[in-house]
Amino acid sequence: MKDESNSGSITRRGVLMAAAAVSAGTALQSCARPGDSAAEAPKAKSHDLDFDVVVIGGGFAGVTAARELGVDGYRVLLLEARPRLGGRTFTGKFQGKKVEYGGACVHWIQPHVFAEMQRYGKGFEEVPLVDLDATNVMLSTGEIRRISPEEFIREYDFAMEAFNARSLELFPRPYSPFFNPEVLALENVSAAEHIETLGLNEIQKATLNAEMTLYAGAPTTEYSYTSFVKLFALAAWDYYMFTDSEKHYKIADGGTLGLCKAILDHSGAEVRLGKVVSAITQEQDSVRIETTDGQVVTAKTTVITVPTKVYDSISFSPGLSNEKQAFIKNAEMCDAACMFVRFKQNIGNTFSFCDDPNPFSAIQTEYFDDQIGTIVKVTLARQSLIDINDQDAVKKEMKRLFPNVDIVAISSYNWATDPFSRQGWPSYRVGWFSKYKDMAKPEGRLYFAGGATADGWHEYIDGAVESGIRVGREVREALGRELGSRE
Ligand SMILES: Cc1cc2nc3c(=O)[nH]c(=O)nc-3n(C[C@H](O)[C@H](O)[C@H](O)COP(=O)(O)OP(=O)(O)OC[C@H]3O[C@@H](n4cnc5c(N)ncnc54)[C@H](O)[C@@H]3O)c2cc1C
Repeated sequence: MKDESNSGSITRRGVLMAAAAVSAGTALQSCARPGDSAAEAPKAKSHDLDFDVVVIGGGFAGVTAARELGVDGYRVLLLEARPRLGGRTFTGKFQGKKVEYGGACVHWIQPHVFAEMQRYGKGFEEVPLVDLDATNVMLSTGEIRRISPEEFIREYDFAMEAFNARSLELFPRPYSPFFNPEVLALENVSAAEHIETLGLNEIQKATLNAEMTLYAGAPTTEYSYTSFVKLFALAAWDYYMFTDSEKHYKIADGGTLGLCKAILDHSGAEVRLGKVVSAITQEQDSVRIETTDGQVVTAKTTVITVPTKVYDSISFSPGLSNEKQAFIKNAEMCDAACMFVRFKQNIGNTFSFCDDPNPFSAIQTEYFDDQIGTIVKVTLARQSLIDINDQDAVKKEMKRLFPNVDIVAISSYNWATDPFSRQGWPSYRVGWFSKYKDMAKPEGRLYFAGGATADGWHEYIDGAVESGIRVGREVREALGRELGSRE
């Protein structure tokens, strides 16, 4: 991370908690809090162990799981590798403006994240997506078509409707994605193959392929067609609703970080930041968790929420099932990064799609006025197509679309190379959509969450929250059975 983001900052609460954790070592700590009625009626505890539950990862899946179990009175420890919370969401500052370097947009059609926003009193903040002044399409060849917003929307709308024409038929119940068995039969169809059947014109094809590359974080030949259609179905099988849900509203009142902290604060969990889990060993009645700084904690159960591609960096004993190992190795491929660029000039409200293999997949105005000029957000589906640390290369690429601007500042975050994500958003490789259930399945005392394991909005914050709620239920049931029988 460069420029002005707060990547290195540790919250005051985090510092206090990390300090407390160091001085207390592995001491027992109750998470019951005065005034919390759920916590005032604690369940039977596993007092020979440090915690009832250790949650690994402080993204939305992890904080939700911690909250679900913490408010039930269980003793929860959350271990987070980075010195900050939020995981693949990251509220920062660029040129004095609040920006989101990771997951950003949310919507009331996404039920889990919306419920959390309601619970903690967070509103919506609008991104200037409507009333566009200018729209551009860069074809895969690099040629640019500067078309009116009306034409852009018409052509893109047509292509999206065509791509998702079977969404209601295939996904009448999107949260049971294989309710229609034909979805399984289409498991090996890639987005690229499906696009080829649609008979689209140049602009339709370029905008649709750029969008699918964005969702894939990879060439569309690698992306699962049906997994995207499921996302579309979740937005009431409707083009307008889907588009509104993906790029129009952010979380107000502290951004994603504000919501993440609100959920975690409610949990009463102990939090240790900067703790990289390196080994997880299941013993007969407990789990032993080791961090790279040599600390060990024990718990009845462990919830793992790290991104799929990070699992390889943790040693599991006994090893994970063959099905999980196969999912970890093959199922995801998102090579994404995010960048903010400030132009001196106010170029207004713009949106551009650049078809693969151009590196800047989508460029969207975030702020514009005569004082700031313009701040655009660039989403790179395939960061390996350009060196985002090479400012000259970035400027040159940007000037292809906006030749007359002066670039004042650039700030980027590379999710694909960050050791604690190793990927962008969760996207399924063709042939792997139906296997996400393998990743979600408990193994002994280990429970698994994270966006990739969600039934619903798996590429979104909403899916992460959904998975945290599901895993909370699984652990609650298991602990209730086990600890209840020891009374
Ligand atoms: C650029 C970008 C744009 C996106 N845009 C949107 C959007 O607009 N809307 C939307 O809803 N979603 C969006 N997403 C997706 C969304 O942000 C993620 O799907 C979601 O945040 C994932 O949450 P998670 O809890 O499953 O995983 P994560 O947030 O990745 O949480 C996992 C946590 O585990 C920690 N960890 C990793 N290894 C270890 C270890 N060894 N020990 C301890 N901790 C460890 C990580 O540091 C991390 O905090 C975007 C994502 C990216 C990257």
